[in-house]
Amino acid sequence: MGRTFFVGGNWKCNGTSEEVKKIVSTLNAGQVPSQDVEVVVSPPFVFLPLVKNELRPDFHVAAQNCWVKKGGAFTGEVSAEMLVNLSIPWVILGHSERRAILGESDEFVGDKVAYAISQGLKVIACVGETLEQRESGSTIDVVAAQTKAIADRVKDWTKVVIAYEPVWAIGTGKVASPAQAQEVHAELRKWLQANVSAEVAASTRIIYGGSVNGANCKELAAQPDIDGFLVGGASLKPEFIDIIKSAE
Ligand code: PEP
Repeated sequence: MGRTFFVGGNWKCNGTSEEVKKIVSTLNAGQVPSQDVEVVVSPPFVFLPLVKNELRPDFHVAAQNCWVKKGGAFTGEVSAEMLVNLSIPWVILGHSERRAILGESDEFVGDKVAYAISQGLKVIACVGETLEQRESGSTIDVVAAQTKAIADRVKDWTKVVIAYEPVWAIGTGKVASPAQAQEVHAELRKWLQANVSAEVAASTRIIYGGSVNGANCKELAAQPDIDGFLVGGASLKPEFIDIIKSAE
């Protein structure tokens, strides 16, 4: 079953409207094979309408978070319904920065993924181990538990892309080796096969994130179970275009 290569750009909490416009015009000028790759960029909430209006139509936008259930008296939150109302198709959920800094548990992330999908959003769901967990040999158990919390709540896997993002590789310049990333991606696919279905295992995109850049993306993209990338720092730079083209 073909899995279209997927490249997401997570702009995190960066940018002014001028800087955002500059990034968008670089993306709009990029020569990319748009039928072979799905590109989704994720600006901060406040810039979503601007980016959605100015971005080329073959690229899409994602929010970086949304509330776990229907909106209401939740000061500072943005609901899935609001994103749908603005025709934002994607949302990133379970990013390790939110898990670590804001204390989002596996179950809370699973609830968010399920609610976002129930409202019509597609989800980039992030999983990944800390350095301590890797060094103690529990990487696979950690990512399996994070994935299980999602699988326990989600029926429609066509709406999910899993982003494997080892925490020790995010924003550190220490990218996982192609073999390290491939090993976890293959284990995640095995987990989906054993615990969800063979069809979901074969069709779900599992993308890698953590210090991906224009120089290391090709070797990672050549791994059989790496179906694309979630890119942080390099998604703010012109080399993001090279990353989009890495599967060529
Ligand atoms: C991320 O934050 O999702 C990420 C992968 O960041 P970076 O590429 O900067 O490591």
